[in-house]
Amino acid sequence: MTRALVRAGRPAGAVTLLAVSKGQSVAAVRSGLAAGLRDFGENYLQEVLPKIATVGGDAVWHFIGRIQSNKTREIAASFAWAQTVTAARIAERLSSQRPHYGEPLQVCIQLASSQAGAAGDAGRAGCPRDEVGSLADLIVSLPRLRLRGLMLLPRAGLDTGMLREEFRGARSLFDQLNAGGHSLDTLSMGMSDDFEIAIEEGSTMVRIGTALFGARQ
Ligand SMILES: *Cc1c(COP(=O)(O)O)cnc(C)c1O
Repeated sequence: MTRALVRAGRPAGAVTLLAVSKGQSVAAVRSGLAAGLRDFGENYLQEVLPKIATVGGDAVWHFIGRIQSNKTREIAASFAWAQTVTAARIAERLSSQRPHYGEPLQVCIQLASSQAGAAGDAGRAGCPRDEVGSLADLIVSLPRLRLRGLMLLPRAGLDTGMLREEFRGARSLFDQLNAGGHSLDTLSMGMSDDFEIAIEEGSTMVRIGTALFGARQ
């Protein structure tokens, strides 16, 4: 991460490391905390709720999986962040279900991958680019959510050049939203295999699982 920041002429500390702990044990999360990690990302509620209960309050938990509407209540109650908001209906549910004690839920809009797949391939879930502005405006109006930024999970199988283009496109949308009056501070993009490119293209949060913890169970 530091080398990529230096290459890009960005200051040290400009990128947060989100440790993706899905498929990893409570012991692995604890050793991450002991090593100074604070932010942990998880995709599956069944797996993470007991982990949150066991690890306790020192970790900051980010939901990074697909949000089904029947799971919004648990996500709103148990996580500090939800990075994968893709639609107004999900945002409204999360806001109304966020418990009134404590902080608002920190939210990112997950962008749809701009790289179209083969015909008929719906690709990854995400908010279409031309709807991001109106979803951002809606989220800002919801009392129990705080819009922090954008999250990108590119389609699988892109080559380096296409990935770089994806990251660049997300960055430019992020800049446009801020130029239009939002104050976003989080551009969540980059994983074990591509975080250096993402950092060179302006990521402020990389989500790393296997490169930190090894293979998932
Ligand atoms: C699993 C996952 C990651 C981490 O992937 P690695 O390749 O193990 O670093 C990052 N982001 C999301 C959304 C994931 O589901």
